[in-house]
Amino acid sequence: MADLTTKTIAQLRDGMRAKEFSAAEVFDQYFTRAENSRALNAFVRFNVELAWDQVKASDERIAKGEARPLEGIPMGIKDLFCTEGLETNAASRILYGFRPPYESTVSQNLLDDGAVFMGKLNLDEFAMGSSNETSAHGPAINPWRREGEETKLTPGGSSGGSAAAVAARLCAGATATDTGGSIRQPAALTATVGLKPTYGRCSRWGIVAFASSLDQAGPIAKDVRDSAILLNSMAGYDPKDSTSIDRPVPDYEQAIAGGVKGMKIGIPKEYRLDGMSQEISDLWTKSAKLLEEQGAEIVEVSLPLTKYALPVYYIVAPAEASSNLARYDGVKYGVRVEDDNIHEMYKKTRGEGFGAEVKRRLMIGTYVLSAGYYDAYYLRAQRVRKKIAMEMAAAFEQVDLLLTPSSPSAAFGLGEKSADPIEMYLNDVFTVTANLAGVPGISIPGGLDAQGLPLGLQLIAPAFGEETMIRGAAALEEAIGFNAQPTEWWR
Ligand code: GLN
Repeated sequence: MADLTTKTIAQLRDGMRAKEFSAAEVFDQYFTRAENSRALNAFVRFNVELAWDQVKASDERIAKGEARPLEGIPMGIKDLFCTEGLETNAASRILYGFRPPYESTVSQNLLDDGAVFMGKLNLDEFAMGSSNETSAHGPAINPWRREGEETKLTPGGSSGGSAAAVAARLCAGATATDTGGSIRQPAALTATVGLKPTYGRCSRWGIVAFASSLDQAGPIAKDVRDSAILLNSMAGYDPKDSTSIDRPVPDYEQAIAGGVKGMKIGIPKEYRLDGMSQEISDLWTKSAKLLEEQGAEIVEVSLPLTKYALPVYYIVAPAEASSNLARYDGVKYGVRVEDDNIHEMYKKTRGEGFGAEVKRRLMIGTYVLSAGYYDAYYLRAQRVRKKIAMEMAAAFEQVDLLLTPSSPSAAFGLGEKSADPIEMYLNDVFTVTANLAGVPGISIPGGLDAQGLPLGLQLIAPAFGEETMIRGAAALEEAIGFNAQPTEWWR
């Protein structure tokens, strides 16, 4: 039998319906591959109890001609999405053993559309990080390596497990979340496609909260079409999330066709950072040319507030995290470290349950929210955030999309940036603005650098401009024609 793991979701869907292969065959190949790829540390838990029942149900539905949109598609679920009865610990010791009594809305949407859950994917602890190194399970490993080297590289973060699993073909697609870049940066570092929708497009209900005004779920997939197919299922109004937007979900897969002819695409000049690598700068210029050749008009735009986005993000996100994570006190969820004195019990539980990066964020967050500093930091950051959103909205009065690199570097070695938090935070310079403004962004593979590592390109659209963004991304994907695969050193 052919290798079904090389197929896209669209191909698997069509092949299963045409009875070329069964859901059981698809699952078996992916699962065997995932089990033999433990060296990548992408899956932290397999859904052994339920997956085969889902697969059987899918084959029965396909036989009856009742296949749902994602019938029999093997998916990996970032371990930030609560899955009913299946442990969800957000890669934090404090949640070890937590089996949610409910299913997140996004994962429920996927199940309702027939997807099969293979298991839970590694991430940075509570999704805080850019390299997966803050995970209590140890980092997921990037299937890509520098040519001629054996150094272990990060798949990015926080959705590093999702990106590594899709890049290594351990699942057909994965869920991910993006608070400051966690879908797009890992996608860029692994040559996958990562789509962060508009804030409010996908429900946050049942997703372990990090920074609620920024968190947004989205897919990581093999190509733009697959990301659109997954978004069709993940998106939708949910009364259980008060920030969910009641707006019909268009058919995003349909949006792929049409090309960029007549589109105006902006190049924000402030994104050309001092010290940007020549390779990334060249790739950016080249991709703008490709879009121009397809009939788009490329215009330079100015977003002078860009330089404030990262500092604003690193005030707002920790502030919200410090509030969201107050619930982990040893009483309501997960782990408790016992002590006769309740305050000591809280302290010990939080002291032992949280990792160093989470603690750092909680300290920063509490500090910027404390009386006396609130106005100077948090309130000020909120004001600047509003201005950034307004500046972004003004840019979209001139252009349909923005084109930028996704990440300031290719995948880096484990440990290379973990000593200096600021250096790690700089990974997010190109991605955080979209979160602060609540607008959608997508990262697609742009090419390989001189060391053979993937580099990503990002398209950003105005709020609810996903269709235009998908259309632009599909056109650019086709023009680039990226088809490299990592060499399989890990199996
Ligand atoms: N890397 C960023 C951070 O550490 C973004 C994380 C995310 O989007 N979840 O906060």
